Amino acid sequence: MDLTNLLKYQELDEKLYNVEQRLTKSPARKRAGELSKIAKNAQIKSNELESEASKVLKEIEDVKAKFEDNKKSLQSLLNKDLDKLSMEDLDKITSLKAKILSNLNFLEKHLQKHAELVNRILMDFNKTKKMYDEARLQFIECKNKIDEETKELEPEKERLTKELEELSKSVEKNLLTEYKKRRNDNIFPVVVPLEGTNFCGRCRMELPMVAISRIKDVGVITCEHCKRLVYKK
Ligand SMILES: [Zn+2]
Repeated sequence: MDLTNLLKYQELDEKLYNVEQRLTKSPARKRAGELSKIAKNAQIKSNELESEASKVLKEIEDVKAKFEDNKKSLQSLLNKDLDKLSMEDLDKITSLKAKILSNLNFLEKHLQKHAELVNRILMDFNKTKKMYDEARLQFIECKNKIDEETKELEPEKERLTKELEELSKSVEKNLLTEYKKRRNDNIFPVVVPLEGTNFCGRCRMELPMVAISRIKDVGVITCEHCKRLVYKK
């Protein structure tokens, strides 16, 4: 089978492939991908911090309410006329006072701990926000660069696509279908020569002799390893 036209087609397709690579693998595009990941993570982080903060704030409110309750109980005890109380009552009050005081200490410490927690969350939040803003700014820069690159390369891409379309008319239909299938799977080059007597010219895997014996008749055989079309020069 004559593969001249298919190889010519691939030769032109290589130019298109290179343009596509320049577009998809450009550093700006890679960076943009990283930045959008950073921004996304920052958003997730800030949502987490927000829910953590509202939980801590709610706890602070609860602790504050308990603190106020204890303060009131203590005050009402202190307001009592101690002269009219029995020794037993007095003991009770003394122990209750001690309990309330220790309670207050505990609550004060608790509040302080919570305040520290809130500060930590706020700091984290600001840090995350800064990261997000920076990522966004850099992303916009990248996006502009990508737009520039696209604008520059798109006409060439279009021209090559048209030329290929024209050239494809001269390629045997089944071969072209097989070629395009692989090309769509991002395999390039698609067609490679046989290396030695029985090796794939790309991945260098050994090809079965049964397949090799058919190569002259069918024109190309598929390398089971890299899926390329292998032909004999
Ligand atoms: Zn191979």
